[in-house]
Amino acid sequence: MNYQGKKRYKHNAKDYFWDELYLFKQCTDQIIRRCIPEEEQQQILEECHSAPYGGHFSGNRTAAKVLQSRFYWPTLHRDAQVFYQQCDRCQRTGNISKRNEMPLQNILEVELFDVWGIDFMGPFPSSFGNLYILLDVEYVSKWVEATATINNDAKTVQKFIKKNIFTRFGTPRAIISDEGRHFDNRSIAAVM
Ligand SMILES: [Zn+2]
Repeated sequence: MNYQGKKRYKHNAKDYFWDELYLFKQCTDQIIRRCIPEEEQQQILEECHSAPYGGHFSGNRTAAKVLQSRFYWPTLHRDAQVFYQQCDRCQRTGNISKRNEMPLQNILEVELFDVWGIDFMGPFPSSFGNLYILLDVEYVSKWVEATATINNDAKTVQKFIKKNIFTRFGTPRAIISDEGRHFDNRSIAAVM
C-alpha cells in the first residue's frame, strides 16, 4: 500500500471494532452494526426481501431493511439490488404500477355518535351471575359503553342499546356488528 492508501486504511479502521466473536462497525448514522461475513449475506437478504414480512421491496428498500436490522457489509446496496433483480417473484409481478391502482372511493362522512360497533365478549367465569360483557364502541370518538350481562341474547342487546345508547347519545345511523344472531334479528331491526 502506498502512503495515501495506508492513511485511508487507518482512517477507515477507526470505525470498526472487535467484540468477542464479531466485528462491528459504527456507521455514519452513529448506529453500531454487525459486519456480516460473505456466507451469511444471502440468507439475510432473503429474510429482508422474501420472508413473509419482507414484502419483496426494491433493492434500496431491502438494503434499508438490512441496515435497520443492524447488519452491515460494504457491498450491501449492490448485493440487494442484484438480489431484487434475480428474485423470481419480483420478475413475475414487476413493479406496482398505475395498472394496479384501485379506484378511489369517497370516504363516508360520519359524525360523532353516528356509528357504533357492538360485540359480546365472553363467556367469562361467572361474576355475580354475569357471564358476558356487551361492548359498544363509538367509531369517531372511540367512546366505550360496556355492561356485564347474564345472557348474550337479542333481548339483552335490545335493552342495552335503548338504555345506554339511544337515550344518552341519540339514535345512531348505523350499528355495526359481526351479524351474530343476537344482533341481526327482527326485534333489533324493529328497535332500529
Ligand atoms: Zn422479490
